[in-house]
Amino acid sequence: MNPKIWLSSPHMGNNEFNYVKEAFDTNWIAPLGPHVDGFEKTLENFLGQNTYVAALSSGTAALHLALIILGVQAGDEVICQSMTFSASANPIAYQGATPIFVDSEEQSWNMSPDFLEEAINDRLKKGKKPKAIIIVHLYGMPANMTRIMEIANKHDIPVVEDAAEALGSSYKKQPLGTFGAMSILSFNGNKIITTSGGGALVSTNEDWIKKARFLATQARDAAPHYQHSHIGYNYRMSNICAGIGRGQMEVLLERVKQRRYNFEYYKNAFASIPEIKFMEEPSSDYYSNRWLSTILVNGSGKSIDREQLRLSLEKDNIESRPLWKPMHLQPVFADASFYGDGTSERLFESGLCLPSGSNLSKEDLDRVVDQVVSTFSTVQI
Ligand SMILES: *Cc1c(COP(=O)(O)O)cnc(C)c1O
Repeated sequence: MNPKIWLSSPHMGNNEFNYVKEAFDTNWIAPLGPHVDGFEKTLENFLGQNTYVAALSSGTAALHLALIILGVQAGDEVICQSMTFSASANPIAYQGATPIFVDSEEQSWNMSPDFLEEAINDRLKKGKKPKAIIIVHLYGMPANMTRIMEIANKHDIPVVEDAAEALGSSYKKQPLGTFGAMSILSFNGNKIITTSGGGALVSTNEDWIKKARFLATQARDAAPHYQHSHIGYNYRMSNICAGIGRGQMEVLLERVKQRRYNFEYYKNAFASIPEIKFMEEPSSDYYSNRWLSTILVNGSGKSIDREQLRLSLEKDNIESRPLWKPMHLQPVFADASFYGDGTSERLFESGLCLPSGSNLSKEDLDRVVDQVVSTFSTVQI
């Protein structure tokens, strides 16, 4: 059996271990410390735009705090992109609020501005103003932020930007994670950089970020004893994890370059397979970190489909995965309202994520390419 090729695996640089060793040497083994502060500063500098950052235990925790700080409560409605990972929508349910799902557009695969507008108007007609809009930049590709912010501003509804997959991407030269009233990042093991597990909340509103740090450390009031006026959470990032993050930030731009290289490599290699289509950047306004290289497999008749290609890759010990299954099709959200025309469902049916790690060797990439090419050539007559 050939060695396993992963979809997206951790890729350490040279300094992560030095930062972690420093934490051990100074005994900062806790969910606070100099690396947590340093990691936050590095992210603030990278994102620019006068942002403040709170380093947290996960991207999901960051989304949960974002909704709490925006005042989302039981009975409220929150609009959310349907095509995404469940972690984008779960925090709505944590608050006892109701998700309203919106379909994707063809060009970015992210929230359709047209259906967003339709959803807002219809909810207003039904008598309830949505409390927030959660948009996602899938696989690193920016959503249409100009139109989405226009619509959100017109209706005065705050945007929460789920940039978990999009650190290092930009829209009209502005880094993703700096558009929303609040934005979240993830440093899970499979993301473009990792802290083993972790996340961050980003905002230009310093009070909100201070509040996030307060809520994330059990909401302790200023008193010598343990005094609480709010329900708190244990959501802060560990100083060890933040040390890994500081090392990873030193190689982030290199990782973006490597991931974008993977995409170009596949695109050139599959240029002569008409059944395979790539998600292009819609215009020069869009810059994707290409967290994952994704394809659409549009075989018809005798040709093979997405699932056959996935199984064929699996046979050679190569991990690939269908695109995110839309939330409005998930059993757990079966009762939720949905606005759309089936675009995300069609993308899910034919879309596949290919191995995309920044640590793939040329041999790895060629193994993937050979397996895909031979899968298609066996069925062509
Ligand atoms: C990974 C991910 C999250 C959750 O981040 P965690 O750090 O794993 O909690 C949220 N949204 C999207 C789109 C993601 O890909």
